[in-house]
Amino acid sequence: MRSYQVDPDLRSVEGFLRASEVLKRFECQNARPATTEEMLMVHSAEHIAHIEHIAACGGGEGGIYAPVGFHSTFASRLAVGATVEAAQQAMQSEARRHYCFIRPPGHHAEAERAMALCLYNNVAVGVRAAQRLGAQRVLIIDWDVHHGNGTQSIFYEDPHVLYISVHQDGLFPPMGGNMREMGHEAGYGTTINVPLPAGSGHGAYLAVMQELVVPAAEQFQPDIIFVSAGLDASAHDPMGRQLCHSYTFYKMTTLVCQLADTLCEGRLVVVHEGGYSQWYLGILVRAVAAALAGLPLPSDPFLHALKHLPGQQLQSHQEQRIKQVAKQHPFYRKRVV
Ligand SMILES: [Zn+2]
Repeated sequence: MRSYQVDPDLRSVEGFLRASEVLKRFECQNARPATTEEMLMVHSAEHIAHIEHIAACGGGEGGIYAPVGFHSTFASRLAVGATVEAAQQAMQSEARRHYCFIRPPGHHAEAERAMALCLYNNVAVGVRAAQRLGAQRVLIIDWDVHHGNGTQSIFYEDPHVLYISVHQDGLFPPMGGNMREMGHEAGYGTTINVPLPAGSGHGAYLAVMQELVVPAAEQFQPDIIFVSAGLDASAHDPMGRQLCHSYTFYKMTTLVCQLADTLCEGRLVVVHEGGYSQWYLGILVRAVAAALAGLPLPSDPFLHALKHLPGQQLQSHQEQRIKQVAKQHPFYRKRVV
């Protein structure tokens, strides 16, 4: 396994990981900047020039809620480069399982537009890199609490990329991630949106994984799996209203490891996205890292209280939403009696 760190803002989390010794189970690599040629697999030359011009001028607004600073060009190229490198190594080497511990996030960035802290779409460029190296079918699982509108738009007409997003219904973008958005033209049916009601917790997220993600993955038979592993669906996150905790992310990560091992010879690239709780983020990252390393769930002083919050079990209205997706989406229709 390999992991990549680039952003000074995440150093405190990195220190926490090192103190916990989880990182000893990883081969840590510094990120390399993506080349312009790699960025052009997803983004237009105009978009790249636009972001770099703003940075060169000292900073400003790069899109919608997408501030750009003087160092943003280099930082975002490192984030893309780490994901591309992970994808290439997963496809070409014995190092199949990767955790890209990067900032800025990427899943809101469209081909020609920055949005919501995302300047470039890290996962999308990584997917294109994997496709260049022979991946015929690529699965993206996005469990960030926000909808990955950028990733969806980039692959909306691509039948070779199955994008599954589980997010808080109506959060951001406000009109994004409706379950009726299922892809277009040749890509119809390869976008699956699961907008969970606010207040969904461990039971609802695990039910989505078991009832929707696992059967779709088994049917799609990917050659490599990417995870947009946002950690902002946690109960402590100020940007969402979901109830997940470290055990939720540990279980979901363990499940995608099993899927990758079963379906695509272990090729798995887990990419950090959102996650904004200053006191809980480190514990969540460590839970994901521990699952990737096959270690037991590390201790979490918040877990007991969070596990016993009302609503952690799957609620009937959440189950109803999951059944709605299964009933309406072409990927599942033949499975519904
Ligand atoms: Zn997010």
